[in-house]
Amino acid sequence: MEHVRITDPEIAELVVQEIERQRDKIRLIPSENYVSSAVLEVSGSVLTNKYSEGYSKKRYYEGQQFIDQIETLAVNRAKALFGAEAANVQPYSGSPANLAVYFAFAKPGDTIMGLALDHGGHLTHGWGVSITGAYYNPVRYELRPDTHLIDYDMVRDQAKKHRPKIIMAGATAYPRIIDWNIFAEVANEIDAILCVDMAHIAGLVAGGVHPSPIPVADVVTTTTHKSLRGPRGGMILMKKKHRKAINKAVFPGLQGGPHNHTTAGIAVALKEAATEEFIVYAHNIVANAKHLADKLNEKGFKLVSGGTDNHLVLIDVSPKNITGKVYAKALDTAGIVCNYNTVPFDPRPPFDPSGIRIGTPAMTSRGMGKSEMEKLADWMDQVAGNVANEAELNRIAAEVKELCKSFPAPGIPA
Ligand SMILES: *Cc1c(COP(=O)(O)O)cnc(C)c1O
Repeated sequence: MEHVRITDPEIAELVVQEIERQRDKIRLIPSENYVSSAVLEVSGSVLTNKYSEGYSKKRYYEGQQFIDQIETLAVNRAKALFGAEAANVQPYSGSPANLAVYFAFAKPGDTIMGLALDHGGHLTHGWGVSITGAYYNPVRYELRPDTHLIDYDMVRDQAKKHRPKIIMAGATAYPRIIDWNIFAEVANEIDAILCVDMAHIAGLVAGGVHPSPIPVADVVTTTTHKSLRGPRGGMILMKKKHRKAINKAVFPGLQGGPHNHTTAGIAVALKEAATEEFIVYAHNIVANAKHLADKLNEKGFKLVSGGTDNHLVLIDVSPKNITGKVYAKALDTAGIVCNYNTVPFDPRPPFDPSGIRIGTPAMTSRGMGKSEMEKLADWMDQVAGNVANEAELNRIAAEVKELCKSFPAPGIPA
């Protein structure tokens, strides 16, 4: 922070404090991670100074000798890593990537279908407060009350009844493998576009621990900053036949100039994700989540769907006689960061729901493994029994900080 310290000591100090927070706490928000120093370097580079509206070789500004090569590398690496026919790496984030898909294939007022937010879907899958729910006509499918798995019968019934133009598959809080084939069958039956939003699990797909949607989906959207471990950004992977429509929807449809520093960061992250090391990382994310889930089960926590197949665990904390919000705040004081979350069929309101959501991508990036997951489950149990006991929470926070010292975080000086 040597330059910021001189120009803006206030911001410098806050950034330093955030670095320390990320260093000293166990970060369990399943959509967060630690990018590598290489990704950080290009993300903070002079590429941010350049305008390059358009696409490689078809730009509206001169001086693209290097930007064109960077974007082409990112596109080619995305195609190679996921086996996609075409890729757009310009969406500013996951939400604009989804909006581009709607803009490409639907008109305002058209029907779209997605998983309900309170069943694990994302805001941009047609929830009312989102532009996707306000400008389109959203219909929803849900989870089964008995298994907490996606109700695939409801997917088919709703699709046949409402004939949406676009079917969104994918989730933001769903701990199980999703069967893309059923969605593809249904989309085929009603001639809809199937868009898979793999924002949370892109790293798992890249590492081969979740089935890939690429072979069966028309388009696949993703963020680049979650389990994929790149800079904050978005991508759209697609069949060749959709490339023109999607590229037009992203620019000039929705966005202006691409964030070239992010594009370079995505290119670097995609190169990292194509290594043997990343495959091991993806396997470890899931192994850690499963082990943590087992231990939490043993301690009497109630897990949505009983456990996990992926990177995240949804916990109903009502059997512990606490609410999700109270528990999440106590965990944060104890140095364990997660978010409160609704559970399926939650009787409580969204701003004070019954559950929390945790995930293992960030801690796995620090090299934590099974024995650390066991310690973590112990701490989580202790916090649940001491949500108002400041001294106990502070004691745990000190232990957490001590453990974190043995697991240096990528991109953060020890
Ligand atoms: C995180 C997420 C998004 C949105 O990504 P932002 O980068 O926050 O806009 C979209 N869809 C799903 C399923 C997500 O989990």
